[in-house]
Amino acid sequence: MSPVDGAGIGVVPGCSVGDVDSAVSRAAVAFEAWRHVAPGDRGRLLRRFAAQVDAHLEELARLEVRNAGHTIGNARWEAGNVRDVLDYYAGAPERLTGHQIPVPGGLDVTFHEPLGVVGVIVPWNFPMPIACWGFAPALAAGNTVVLKPAELTPLTALRLAELARDAGLPDGVFTVLPGQGSVVGERFVTHPAVRKVCFTGSTEVGTRIMAGCAAQVKRVTLELGGKSANIVFADADLEKAAATAPYAVFDNAGQDCCARSRILVQRRVYDRFLELLEPAVQAVRVEDPARETAEMGPLISAAHRDRVAGYVDGADVAFTGSCPDGPGFWHAPTVLLAGSPADRHWREEVFGPVVSVLPFDDEADAIRLANDTEYGLSGSIWTRDVGRAVRVARAVESGNLSVNSHSSVRYWTPFGGMKRSGLGRELGPDALHAFTDVKNVFIGTEE
Ligand code: NAP
Ligand code: MG
Repeated sequence: MSPVDGAGIGVVPGCSVGDVDSAVSRAAVAFEAWRHVAPGDRGRLLRRFAAQVDAHLEELARLEVRNAGHTIGNARWEAGNVRDVLDYYAGAPERLTGHQIPVPGGLDVTFHEPLGVVGVIVPWNFPMPIACWGFAPALAAGNTVVLKPAELTPLTALRLAELARDAGLPDGVFTVLPGQGSVVGERFVTHPAVRKVCFTGSTEVGTRIMAGCAAQVKRVTLELGGKSANIVFADADLEKAAATAPYAVFDNAGQDCCARSRILVQRRVYDRFLELLEPAVQAVRVEDPARETAEMGPLISAAHRDRVAGYVDGADVAFTGSCPDGPGFWHAPTVLLAGSPADRHWREEVFGPVVSVLPFDDEADAIRLANDTEYGLSGSIWTRDVGRAVRVARAVESGNLSVNSHSSVRYWTPFGGMKRSGLGRELGPDALHAFTDVKNVFIGTEE
């Protein structure tokens, strides 16, 4: 269904447990060959896969606009991100070096062994990037991959699997299995030949997946929810902080685990900040996401729009932006004033274009409020005081922070959450280690 007008765009049949089992068997067979493909050749195949994605970038982007309602600008970035992540990890096979550790009586070396079949479970909010953050390093490290896209957004993942085949990846190395979480996703957890699950989605499902994986001591990476703070100190460049704050939360219609959905403003500049924020929110262009000028599109589904609207009902609305009326799952950018940190919209992940604002008194108060959440994924700190920026960045319990910016995820730097926002890190130079086990080998040299 298209989020833009609610029109049907197609039905993809879901896989059964039997389908998953045969795909996992093929992936397990493919693993024995793939792990032994020479590093340079594995890298070359991934580079070819990246080139295929690049050649079909506009097609993939258009598909995502239709299926997920992403703005065309975002969707192009997302398809480009798949290409870049593949290119980045295509350089990894030849660099997956171990240690040589001095020991008496012999030689000690470590190897990073691939795990086997890796199951990647993807949510609907960023179908392409989140898929490739799992499959690209997993493949580079010598694993084979089975991937379950979200039921609502399977189309780009299915197209990526075709492009992988066109690039020459052997059969069974990368398989996309659309279907229900409770069937396909669950089978990744219970199937003994799936040696790792890489999950992105809700904290609720992630918690269950971790418990399920524990039964087999199965490796797991979790990227879960967030309720990230955007902390604005009185000495900050207020104009810039206010002008950028809407994009830090309303991008992708707020359906972003990194959304800075809590704005903390030092009390002295609270009124001034809100004055500056209002025109910035009203300037956000919410329109047909296929238009080049669109900055925000609709929400993913009618049910999700209603869930988001439930947070606004009865809350103290400071001001809103606009959105088209008529068909489609639209919700205007909305700024809520939090009466206290106990407010539901201040505590829970809304996953929509809704941001809550609360004043704070001093640095200690800001840190306390920022950390008063079960989540810890991202966040921003606005101040001109370098010492304070460093102190607060170190004190906020969150995996990804930006100072005087709302930097998005970069594929060459690590990404992941603290507390209930997740477990493990994706991307960056060390991601391959999450898809390998270290083996230590001692070779005696005594006569
Ligand atoms: P979700 O239910 O956690 O779904 C994420 C993925 O897990 C989907 O592919 C889903 O399949 C699958 N899944 C569901 N139940 C499963 C199970 N029992 N075993 C294995 N896999 C399972 O998330 P959602 O329903 O898409 O969104 C709900 C909320 O989660 C959002 O409102 C938001 O708060 C949060 N969320 C966070 C992120 C993030 O990036 N951290 C992303 C998306 C959502 P189906 O498609 O069949 O459901
Ligand atoms: Mg769900």
